[in-house]
Amino acid sequence: MNSLFRFPLCAALCLAARSFATPASEPPSQLDSAAPQAAQSQARRVILIGVDGLGARYIPWDEMPNLRALRDSGTYAVARCHRPTASAINWKSAFSGLPPEIHGYNLWNSTAPGIEPPDCALQPDGSLPDLVAEIRRQRPGAYTATLYTWAGLGFCLATNEASRTRHFAGVSSAYKGRDSAVFDEGLRQLSRNPLFMLLYQGQVDATGHATGWGSPQYTNACINVDANIGRLADGLRSLGLWDDTAIIFVADHGGLDKGHGGKEDIRVFEVPFLISGGAANGLVLRGPILLMDTAPTILALLGLDVPEKMRGRPAAMPR
Ligand SMILES: [Zn+2]
Repeated sequence: MNSLFRFPLCAALCLAARSFATPASEPPSQLDSAAPQAAQSQARRVILIGVDGLGARYIPWDEMPNLRALRDSGTYAVARCHRPTASAINWKSAFSGLPPEIHGYNLWNSTAPGIEPPDCALQPDGSLPDLVAEIRRQRPGAYTATLYTWAGLGFCLATNEASRTRHFAGVSSAYKGRDSAVFDEGLRQLSRNPLFMLLYQGQVDATGHATGWGSPQYTNACINVDANIGRLADGLRSLGLWDDTAIIFVADHGGLDKGHGGKEDIRVFEVPFLISGGAANGLVLRGPILLMDTAPTILALLGLDVPEKMRGRPAAMPR
């Protein structure tokens, strides 16, 4: 089981197919040695931008020049989120590398498994696998930061294992101001040379619920997030950190009308999955990608091992 999950399934299938198609007397081809391998040791740091409620089909690319620049200089794929298509369920999948059927979060605001995870899914200490906890276990001296504006996120990720964690509750009554404060703090944290940093944005989801997915106000929320992305990119470049940073950009679900749960619609399921920054040079995303691939992808980008308990897989491969 271990070796199978550490090796990309598509690569395994490709090799298997070739082994059947190639006569035994024929020397190995270049294709065999070029079989895709998970990206390793590319990045000195990974910054994860998580935008709540940003459906891939709703991204106003023409009005998000900074995100578009990340896409055009990096690698982009449309991924799918998990059911039920709501926040805590999917953020837990992103951070644990597990599907909801295993981690057990079953409500938009779950703070613990509502369905008991199987014992075999648990780590020796009884916890579910977790991105930040795993980074700390493998790199105990590394600096990490988790910065977010929705309180529920703190129950989806082991924020207590991060060097610095902050829920921006009181900076502003509106998500727009608090989301900007997340990036302000993120830019300050760059001086600590974080190995991993999460920057969560809540305003797109909140606006979708208030005025509808794809509404003019929803687009404005996307534009606000884009401005924050631009400030981060400028900050990384001015500090000379761009070349060895990987930025990964994901969302937890899309939406339809003013909701996003319980509807079997492609606009709810499709979410962006993007990797950019200088450390993404030469990488390509290979689908199909599920949101639970987020944590394994980040660990692989950092050159860390993906725990056997995680069921997602690294999605980035050498081009
Ligand atoms: Zn959400």
